[in-house]
Amino acid sequence: MRLPDWVVGRLAEPVWDLYEGSVRLRTYRRLARDQFDAPEALERRRRERLGELVRHAAAPSPFHARRLRDAGIDPRGVRDIADLRGLPLLTKADIRGDLDDILAADHRREDLVPAKTGGSTGTALHVYCDRRGVERRNGAALLADTWSGWRLGQPMGAVWGNPPAPRTLRNRLRLACKDRIVYLDTMRLDEASVREFAAGWRRLRPGLLYGHAHSLYLLAGMLEEMGERLRPDGIVATSMMLLQPEREVIERVFARPVTNRYGCEEVSLIACECERHAGLHLNAEHAAVELLRDDGSPCSPGEDGRIVVTEFVNLGMPMLRYEVGDRGVLHDRPCPCGRPSPLLRTVTGRTADFLVAADGSRVAGISLIENTLTRYPGIGQLQVVQEVVGRVELYVVRATGWDEAVAAALTGVFRDSLGGAEVALRFVDTIPREPNGKYRFSICRVPGVRSGA
Ligand SMILES: [Zn+2]
Repeated sequence: MRLPDWVVGRLAEPVWDLYEGSVRLRTYRRLARDQFDAPEALERRRRERLGELVRHAAAPSPFHARRLRDAGIDPRGVRDIADLRGLPLLTKADIRGDLDDILAADHRREDLVPAKTGGSTGTALHVYCDRRGVERRNGAALLADTWSGWRLGQPMGAVWGNPPAPRTLRNRLRLACKDRIVYLDTMRLDEASVREFAAGWRRLRPGLLYGHAHSLYLLAGMLEEMGERLRPDGIVATSMMLLQPEREVIERVFARPVTNRYGCEEVSLIACECERHAGLHLNAEHAAVELLRDDGSPCSPGEDGRIVVTEFVNLGMPMLRYEVGDRGVLHDRPCPCGRPSPLLRTVTGRTADFLVAADGSRVAGISLIENTLTRYPGIGQLQVVQEVVGRVELYVVRATGWDEAVAAALTGVFRDSLGGAEVALRFVDTIPREPNGKYRFSICRVPGVRSGA
């Protein structure tokens, strides 16, 4: 039986939050209420949250305490992100090398929510967030979802790499009553899986379609060829660059505008378009985003720079001046919608092609990398390159823990996912950026296959 959306939105969602003692919906409602506040009110809240983060989270973290001291910054005096300008950037290498020291000492490790990341960056990282922080992050994501046209309580359709299988009764109940989601697994994108997805879609009637930008583009093309029509109220493209020609195809096929969203596992939502699609609003209630020149000085609006994020809501693993690894440009104008949070005009960074299996089906490179990099030890960085169907090269930066067993497992996953392709391992010291500064972790040069970048 399909529960009516209003029952889920007004009953199942609040009851579930109450049951879990979660602040997710409370955060969502507060953010929704405050989203059109005066800029001064937003600024006041941001200063308070930044001060709180530095005093209560960074100070108990041995890593941050040391860095603040070395930079001559008194945590009690921090009011504005400019007060942290003397602090070195927090890099992925710092997180890999000093994770234990970065975590706040007043949180127990077992109380934190772990996450592994890799697919979007090609670099394996283990990160944590305290439970309250996760709920606040989810509240902010709900608000961003509503900007796309989706309404609280509506089911969702997801084009994703690892559809979670609900194992416990509690999770099955949750999926049936609340998280009603139909998945299309990007590990295998072919006509049969798309037909199954479309049938599931018609049963569940989702209000939102979300997924990696390039996966949505491929899905749109396949649906069009197959004569299938899906009509979501909103479409959210996330995790990868949304390229303009792909955006146009998605919008034409689904007859809805695409809402471009930018974030990462380490600091969650960074920026998202509103219903005006004039740029991506920074998640200003929950984070301070800096755009920096290569010499470390702040960029002017309109100037391309490195994206550096300080997230206010994760007190378990404070992320102070985290260098995400992408580049972006701040808009010089506010959004016509009236929301005070500034706009990112563009984000450039992550792209990953789909690969081609022996039977011609498509396999999302981002999902393959996520599935291997985060599962096996000893892989510092990973890149897959395919020149012809039936063969791929894997470029591996080896790290502690690498051994023959990992090599065999890694090779096996790529071989099996690509229908028996030959896999050649190549060991390298670094994986270079493209001439345009972008990292590409999955490159497909098979003739006749439309690339993702
Ligand atoms: Zn706006």
